[in-house]
Amino acid sequence: MTAIPVAAQKYDLGFARWVRDNVDGGDMMNMCMQCGVCSGSCPLGEQMEHGPRKLFMMIRAGMKDAVLSSNSWQSCVSCYNCVVRCPRKVPVKYILQGLGGVAVKEGYAEGAKSDNGAFGRAFWKTSATTGRTDERAVTVRYYWASGGIMGLIKKGLANMDVAMGLIKTKRMPIFSMPDKIKNTSELKTILDKAMEIQARHGAE
Ligand code: SF4
Ligand code: SF4
Repeated sequence: MTAIPVAAQKYDLGFARWVRDNVDGGDMMNMCMQCGVCSGSCPLGEQMEHGPRKLFMMIRAGMKDAVLSSNSWQSCVSCYNCVVRCPRKVPVKYILQGLGGVAVKEGYAEGAKSDNGAFGRAFWKTSATTGRTDERAVTVRYYWASGGIMGLIKKGLANMDVAMGLIKTKRMPIFSMPDKIKNTSELKTILDKAMEIQARHGAE
């Protein structure tokens, strides 16, 4: 992977070429005819700052910072609607995913605000530290990320019905500690190794 162009200006005209050469599926972006089917089909389109169609136009315009700091790539839930429906067979989802990888490496991830991103980080943190995805631990981390104690209370109250449903159907225990695997240090070793391989792969 070549180094991402550093834009001295707001519009970096080398960015589209860089995406084409370095992002999975980026070479297909030239096929986009701006029909908007992807954005119109996307269940998360309304929550994205820029739908896929607009995002591709922004890439062509060289708006690197705006593209990488947008919540669009964090909002994608990989439903593949866009991939199936695009009349030009542009692998929209893969391009968003690739942009997300670049954005994380380039340090844009923390600035980009997305509920899905916050949920993903809560899910990762919980599973990476305990080897389990305990609903309570993930939920508390996720709610906390949306505004500390106030976020926790606000989102907790707003989702009380869901919590009660989970408790009633025994999908969420309340009188036991969150579950975790026996050997978390072994898990850490595996994850560290995986990240090392990924970093090496990304640097190639
Ligand atoms: S559906 Fe395909 S061709 Fe249409 S705007 Fe989206 S990516 Fe471009
Ligand atoms: S895969 Fe992502 S971008 Fe495509 S329609 Fe689904 S949520 Fe939207």
